Amino acid sequence: MVRYKQTSEVLKIMKNVEQVRNVGITAHVDHGKTTLSDSLLGAAGLISEKIAGQALALDYLDVEQKRQMTVKAANVSLYHEYKGKPYVINLIDTPGHVDFQAKTTRALRVIDGAIVVVDAVEGVMTQTEMYLRVALEERVRPILFINKIDRLIKELRLSPNEIQQRLIQIIKDVNALIASYADKEFQQAWQLDPAKGQVAFGSARDRWGFTIPMAQQRGIKFSDVVDVYTRGKEAVPELQKAAPLHEAVLDMVVKFVPNPRDAQKYRIPKIWHGDVNSELAKYMMDADPNGPLIMLVNDVRVDPHAGLVATGRVYSGTVRAGEEVWLVNARMPQKVLQVSLYMGLYRELADEITAGNIAAVLGIDKARSGETLVSMNYKDVMTPFEKLRMITESVVTVA
Ligand code: GDP
Repeated sequence: MVRYKQTSEVLKIMKNVEQVRNVGITAHVDHGKTTLSDSLLGAAGLISEKIAGQALALDYLDVEQKRQMTVKAANVSLYHEYKGKPYVINLIDTPGHVDFQAKTTRALRVIDGAIVVVDAVEGVMTQTEMYLRVALEERVRPILFINKIDRLIKELRLSPNEIQQRLIQIIKDVNALIASYADKEFQQAWQLDPAKGQVAFGSARDRWGFTIPMAQQRGIKFSDVVDVYTRGKEAVPELQKAAPLHEAVLDMVVKFVPNPRDAQKYRIPKIWHGDVNSELAKYMMDADPNGPLIMLVNDVRVDPHAGLVATGRVYSGTVRAGEEVWLVNARMPQKVLQVSLYMGLYRELADEITAGNIAAVLGIDKARSGETLVSMNYKDVMTPFEKLRMITESVVTVA
């Protein structure tokens, strides 16, 4: 169910960054990234009460339109309650094609966790490895969703035991990649343990999924899944009800993706190449809302009604409408005309957005993707987030 909320309520959650998560979905082509984000949006997408009161809400529920918009959205915000506490989960669009490696790297700087989607039949493939590698190099923590479990039953006709063996192998393959590509301090800490609920299994298309702890708690077994698909399509709603996909995936996000403040502590020294002992580094590592504004713009696009919309992550300080900011790469000041937050697919006006969050700003029309915005009085000392440099043919990193 889509959650209808007041913008003010969501802003309150965003001010407490412990209740915010910034994530992306990565997958080898056709493994189900789009289907998963559509399912999550349909089940947990945020929508403001204001928009809900307009005809637009009807469009929002239209599956086809939603699908087209998901593909294009810079950010989709979701609402999820875990142990009675509300969370805002930002799903940042990570480009799905290998040609967009610079863009991928840029998107990875804005997220702290990646939901890695793997097709249960195909297993880990070249792009799974490539995305996982670049994510780990940026200290983005992976969690795993093994998708298309239905295919193991309908196409391969595997028994519950064979299904488990195959899933164990996929988890082993992913863990081997984590062990080889993560920085030393995370090689062990980020190993995925299905018993802890760090892996979800399911079908994005059929909108069910569970982690092992969730299955144990609800008394669901792989033999029940086999039984449902053996009985046919009509039985699938039983699984959707017993094990809703969004619950499995979003619980995992809340539990295992670090909140923006915890993440910035170890990510800033890796993704930002300024002096880690400087005052600015400290503000960013603390995600201090009272520090100078530092924002990385990872996406710039034209809205036919609003003009140029720059979306990105605020690492320090607070972005406010009416304030002048310095564009480090363009070497010029510009005034922020409007600030907005994402509610589902839509933008809603806000007076200000604080550190750790994703903001959309209007008025910064000289910004290009990859631009760093900083408070005017730090304009001469700010090291930008991005200076593009080619490393090898297959991987582009950002210096
Ligand atoms: P993407 O390229 O990773 O974005 O993959 P898509 O989400 O577009 O999915 C690729 C294809 O796999 C589509 O035809 C989907 O309908 C299909 N698909 C997605 N999830 C599932 C699933 O759980 N089971 C099956 N059998 N097919 C699925």
